[in-house]
Amino acid sequence: MRSALAVVATDAVDTLGGAHDGTVRVCAGTGCVAVFVDTSRGRSRRWCSMSTCGNRAKKEAIRSRSGQ
Ligand SMILES: [Zn+2]
Repeated sequence: MRSALAVVATDAVDTLGGAHDGTVRVCAGTGCVAVFVDTSRGRSRRWCSMSTCGNRAKKEAIRSRSGQ
């Protein structure tokens, strides 16, 4: 008899690492600990969302480049 818990755990692993064919990553945003599945080509995604953390990082980069 199989353990129901083992089945759930296996499904969770499939969902995170297998079914989406992506890499599980932690967001690179400042103060953000969100985990997301990177399904981009080259696995180059860095943020949980471009409209929040990605946008903030871009603004910070522009600000530091202009020296203000
Ligand atoms: Zn984030």
